[in-house]
Amino acid sequence: MTRPLLLPLIAALCLCVTGCSSWQRAEEFEGWTLYVKSGESISNQEFFEAVQPAFETVEEYLGPFEEDVRVHAWIGGVEMTDGAKGTITTSSDGTIADVPGIGPARVRAFHSRGSTSPFGQSGVFVGTADSGTAVHELVHARLAEESTELPLWFEEGFAMIMGDGAMYHGEWFVDGLACWPWRELREQEIDDQRLTELLEVSSGESHSVTDNVLVHFIGWAIVFDLYRERGVLDWRVLFEDFQSAPDPLAEARRRLDRTLDRDTPAEWLRRLKDPEPGIRLAAARGTWKLHSSRTQRMLLSYLREEENPEVQACLAVNALATAGQVELGRRQSGWMWRSVFPVLRQTTLPDPEETSALRTLYRAYRYGNSRYDTQAALERLSRFWED
Ligand SMILES: [Zn+2]
Repeated sequence: MTRPLLLPLIAALCLCVTGCSSWQRAEEFEGWTLYVKSGESISNQEFFEAVQPAFETVEEYLGPFEEDVRVHAWIGGVEMTDGAKGTITTSSDGTIADVPGIGPARVRAFHSRGSTSPFGQSGVFVGTADSGTAVHELVHARLAEESTELPLWFEEGFAMIMGDGAMYHGEWFVDGLACWPWRELREQEIDDQRLTELLEVSSGESHSVTDNVLVHFIGWAIVFDLYRERGVLDWRVLFEDFQSAPDPLAEARRRLDRTLDRDTPAEWLRRLKDPEPGIRLAAARGTWKLHSSRTQRMLLSYLREEENPEVQACLAVNALATAGQVELGRRQSGWMWRSVFPVLRQTTLPDPEETSALRTLYRAYRYGNSRYDTQAALERLSRFWED
């Protein structure tokens, strides 16, 4: 009766590149300053609303910034030449790179220490007003103030965990289960030799975009396991834990395998029972990327109990998007529509445009009416599924 959902499989990446452009000071905030690319106009307010909660989160977990942070903002992305080089672009299609062995990805932001090039400016560079992206880059900016030299994989892994989450009522809630890397790493089957190479990649040496992406992914998987074991997001504690192991390769392998265990997402998704709606929203967001019918069953069973409208919408949209990726049995498919339709038809979100997007999806899927623009409706609801 219904068509599967089409979702863009383009993932947002945050790589470390150096940027060189001229920038103008646009507005000063407490602890950070917004810079805009000369000749471009952006909404300062939109970037303030995305960056301010990110700034607060990073100070909460990593301590206060020692120096004022320069945040360079534009709308667009980065065209990559290799894993450590790229140029800023404002064209929307030029930012999609086909990462060999991984697929299409879009680089939206980076951090620059500014010391590698005489023209380089230090600070964070964000091509989108998105809090998760800002958190990731601000983690780099804060760690650059520390004297400890961290391996690239650890720093990227920690930044990925901090940047995975959701905005709920003006606050960034960290989750940490990065669904795309989880699925991608299980498909890649990285052997010990490849793992050794990736653990040794450093930001100072040239490396391919594929290697850079995989460094982020394995870093995420290892640090995520350290985080799950400790239950604290303190980079010093987690890094010390890793270093206390006698054999780094064996330790990396053990932790990578534990994160990639097929039961890990299901265990992590018990957070869908947390009393805090922001945590539930952060846990549900992006879960369709696991491409898992088991995860969909979890989303549907939690949806039955869920009373918060935003979390309801998030569970429903991710369950629906999963249906576009995996073959579901008749019973599960029937259960899905019975659970999802009431949300699409009745749930009222704080933003009227989001509510109207839910109704559009309802009419399109309930009545199979192709007159409705489901893609635009999904875009409007992207904060629930895109990360
Ligand atoms: Zn990064």
